[in-house]
Amino acid sequence: MTADKLQIALYWGAACGGCDVAVLDTDAFILDIAAAADIRMWPIAVDGKYADIEAMEDAELDLAIFNGAVRNSENEHIAKLLRAKSKVLVAFGSCAHLGGIPGLANLTTRDEILGTAYLHNPSLEKGSKTLPVPESGVNGSTLTIPAFYKRVYKLDDVVPVDYYLPGCPPAADQVKAVLQAVIAGELPPPGSVVGASDKALCEDCVRVKSEKRIKQFHRPWQIMIDPDACLLEQGVLCAGPVTRGGCGARCPSSGIPCRGCYGPLDGVVDQGAKLLSAVVSVIDSQDPAEIERIIDGLPDFTGFAYRFSMPSSLLQRSVRP
Ligand code: SF4
Ligand code: SF4
Ligand code: SF4
Repeated sequence: MTADKLQIALYWGAACGGCDVAVLDTDAFILDIAAAADIRMWPIAVDGKYADIEAMEDAELDLAIFNGAVRNSENEHIAKLLRAKSKVLVAFGSCAHLGGIPGLANLTTRDEILGTAYLHNPSLEKGSKTLPVPESGVNGSTLTIPAFYKRVYKLDDVVPVDYYLPGCPPAADQVKAVLQAVIAGELPPPGSVVGASDKALCEDCVRVKSEKRIKQFHRPWQIMIDPDACLLEQGVLCAGPVTRGGCGARCPSSGIPCRGCYGPLDGVVDQGAKLLSAVVSVIDSQDPAEIERIIDGLPDFTGFAYRFSMPSSLLQRSVRP
C-alpha cells in the first residue's frame, strides 16, 4: 500500500462476471490503474479479504466499484461495508444501476426459484428435498451461508450511491473515461449517470428513420432485415427510443435490436412503460382488435421491456406475497 496512490476496491454482487471483464477490456490502461492505485479488493483478480476491508478506517478507500445486483445478505453486507469505507461508490453496470438481468427474477418468487433449482431439477437425485437454509448444524457447529432474499434490489436500494455507470456491461471506452476522471479528480456532481449520453440511443444510431408505421411485429430471425433502415420501423422491437445513448449504438449497428441496457433517460421513471408508449406510437391501426393482434405479436413483452430494469420499475416485482 502506497500513501500517495488512490485506494480502490472492486466487488461483484449478483453478477455474471462480464462487468469485471469490461474493466480488464480496457487493455493496457489496466496497467495505468495499477500504477495509479492500490487495488485493495477485487474478488475476480486480487486476493483481498473482507476482513481487510472491515479493518479499514471509514472513507479510507478513494473509490469502490460495485457491479452486480443485491440478491442476498452477503451482497448487502459488502455494499454497506464498501459504502462506509469509501469516499466514492460507483454502481457499475446495469445490475448495480437498475437491477439488471438478475432483476428479472422479480417476475417470479423465491420459492419458485429454489424449487426449480433444488427440488425439480432433473439433475438431482430423485425425491431430493434439500433446500439451502441460512444456518444449519454440522458436527456440532453452525454452518452459515448468505440468506437468499425474496427479491432482487439495485445497489441504491440498500446504500447511497455516488455515480452510476450504465451498460451490460459498460463499454470499455466508458470505463476508461470514468476511471481517468476519478484519477484526475474530475467527476461530475454526485448522483450523475457517468460515461453515457443524455440523449436517446436513436440519435447515435445510423439506421435511417422514416416515420413508417407497422402492421406486424417480427422476431429478428423471422424476416430479412434491411441493413440500413430502422429496426423498429421494420417491426423488430428495439428499445433505442427509450434508452440512454453512449454505447455507440453497438447492437443496432450489428443488426441486433437494442434491449435497453444503458437504462432510461433522465426524468423517465419506468423504462418499460416508456417503451410500451413508443411501441404503440408506431402501430398503424386505430382498430382496438387489430391493435391487440399486433401487440400479441410481441412475445414476452414484459421480459423485453424490463430486461435490465425490473427492480427499478414502478412495480419493482410482479408478485407481492
Ligand atoms: S451488468 Fe451485465 S455484464 Fe455486468 S454483471 Fe450484470 S449481467 Fe453481467
Ligand atoms: S429504434 Fe433502434 S434501429 Fe431504430 S433508430 Fe432507434 S436505435 Fe436505431
Ligand atoms: S445498443 Fe442498447 S442493448 Fe446494445 S449495448 Fe447499447 S444500450 Fe445496451
